[in-house]
Amino acid sequence: VPDTPDAVLEGLDPEQREVATALHGPVCVLAGAGTGKTRAITHRIAYGVRAGILQPSSVLAVTFTNRAAGEMRGRLRQLGASGVQARTFHSAALRQLQYFWPKAVGGSMPRIIDRKIQLVADAAAACRIRLDRNELRDVAAEIEWSKVTRTVPADYDAVADKHGRETPRDPAEIAQLYAAYEDLKRERAVIDFEDVLLLTVGILQDRHDIAEQVRRQYQHFVVDEYQDVSPLQQRLLELWLGDRDDLCVVGDASQTIYSFTGATPDHLLDFRIRHPGATVVKLVRDYRSSPQVVHLANGLLAQARGRAAEHRLELISQRDPGPEPVYTEYADEPAEAEGAARRIRDLIASGTPASEIAVLFRTNAQSETYEQALADAGVPYQLRGAERFFDRPEVRKAGVALRGAARFGANDSLLADTVDLPSQVRAVLSGEGWTSEPPSGSGAVRERWESLAALVNLAQDFAAAKPDATLGDLVAELDERANAQHAPTVQGVTLASLHSAKGLEWDVVFLVGVAEGMMPITYAKTDEQIEEERRLLYVGITRARERLHVSWALSRSPGGRPNRRPSRFLNGLRPGSAATAVRGGAGSTGGIERGSPGGTASVVPRPTSRTPARCRVCGRTLRDAGEMKLMRCEDCPSDMDEALYERLREWRAVQA
Ligand code: ATP
Ligand code: MG
Repeated sequence: VPDTPDAVLEGLDPEQREVATALHGPVCVLAGAGTGKTRAITHRIAYGVRAGILQPSSVLAVTFTNRAAGEMRGRLRQLGASGVQARTFHSAALRQLQYFWPKAVGGSMPRIIDRKIQLVADAAAACRIRLDRNELRDVAAEIEWSKVTRTVPADYDAVADKHGRETPRDPAEIAQLYAAYEDLKRERAVIDFEDVLLLTVGILQDRHDIAEQVRRQYQHFVVDEYQDVSPLQQRLLELWLGDRDDLCVVGDASQTIYSFTGATPDHLLDFRIRHPGATVVKLVRDYRSSPQVVHLANGLLAQARGRAAEHRLELISQRDPGPEPVYTEYADEPAEAEGAARRIRDLIASGTPASEIAVLFRTNAQSETYEQALADAGVPYQLRGAERFFDRPEVRKAGVALRGAARFGANDSLLADTVDLPSQVRAVLSGEGWTSEPPSGSGAVRERWESLAALVNLAQDFAAAKPDATLGDLVAELDERANAQHAPTVQGVTLASLHSAKGLEWDVVFLVGVAEGMMPITYAKTDEQIEEERRLLYVGITRARERLHVSWALSRSPGGRPNRRPSRFLNGLRPGSAATAVRGGAGSTGGIERGSPGGTASVVPRPTSRTPARCRVCGRTLRDAGEMKLMRCEDCPSDMDEALYERLREWRAVQA
């Protein structure tokens, strides 16, 4: 912990210091990747708190993911400034909504659904419109987009047209489905993901007393990744602020990667127009990446077009030179995954910690091939975003029931002395659907039973190890285990989609599948969509500190027609043409960083079991080959919605 407030400012460059000491907004930081935006705002809060200028409880820091929020809280603690709220828009809104619901609406808050598809299907039935699965998902995505852009059903047609949306059905039909969906939700007294923000906005708009209460609580606002704020989030922010403008935002328009879900960099780029007196700071020193990586990132951005690109800033690396990026062309995707796995194994064998290596891909469906290849190579890995045991809805619900029973048992120590712990647990869980025999068949019911059975087993093991343990002890144990699962694991290589890699960094990054059809992805057609794909690649490149491996495969499967080409985004950036790129493929290690495969097997522990094939979104076991291929179950949104996946996962984490 720095011993004085001024010591908090050490380790910041002059521009970052300007941000950190401009304690009363409005402040806007426009800067490229790795220039220390997140660092500058974190130190700004810490400095303000340590200097006694900001009350910790009056600061609300908004970040894009729960992980980023957790990291910021940790960093603030290290800087001697605990007690600051660092949250996502959703988690901040949910807290306020829960708190104010009884006062604003009465009763308790409705249940939140996290799967729209069924409700959309019911709405379609009510409207007598036939939709196949894909259309259901696409309509659900349109409803979501409408809500985050604050478009009501009556305006859908006109607004979708203005934004050039490719609508999955006739716009009038979508408007009708959207209206029916909203009606159904009201009828069933449930709300969805977007309603959490919409309702919070509604309450703050209508109830001045409540808005005042929130404004008295929070006086200073800081927003990270502001380039990806949606119109709905922006509105919420404005309501939090009221007529004050003590706001500090940081962002990089070139990293806007959520615009197809309604986010827009306009709020960032127009900040000075909305806040005429704003302090605007630009950062160009890149502290994250080597000059070689920065050179590639600058080259990529130089070819970008559109509004975001007009505001790009050339980055200047502050780090020592490192190796040139490595480009490898493979015959097919499994060979590409094997090649990456081999290199990763060698890197680990020669001393690179696995936690400092990441494999980044465009769609989550690509991860399976890499999971397989890494498991075969004996490399431990972790998947960002996959649902863990204690995050599953049935396990969380069971936890609530056990907690309730433990509290009750404490008052009634007779329900606890006579019955042993596993029996108590079985009794509580039978209320949650646990039975002594598994239900027949597979699918979701069996899946839930398996989770509850795992809890029963856990209770048995716990009671065997601690014969005197009470239900309260068990609940404490479960909480501890849940927290341990949430603690960042440090040993494994990270597998992540580009969308979920935002804001993060690793020493070594493997950018895979950098081929036409993947990056840009086939369904990106308009100039704007292509530019967003380019920005996604920019985000990927700028995650690397030292080494960057870029690869692509000429065909999808072994023996397949070589009908793929390297991504157009690499034109003029990678050395030579495809023909002169370093060739990898079967039998070869692809050129550089040749390791000695024989010597590494004992260094890296083989994972004991393959990860079960689970839906990337909801964590359920996958049912058939079709689902396996997509790595998601039929009920979850299509693989077009990588951004949506992230939001859903976030959402589950918020609810936990
Ligand atoms: P992104 O756009 O990817 O979110 P960012 O601008 O938020 O990036 P940070 O994550 O804050 O950048 O910083 C990137 C890296 O550079 C971090 O490892 C950070 O600790 C380091 N860094 C930032 N500023 C400095 C500095 N003044 N001196 C040394 N290291 C720094
Ligand atoms: Mg950042």
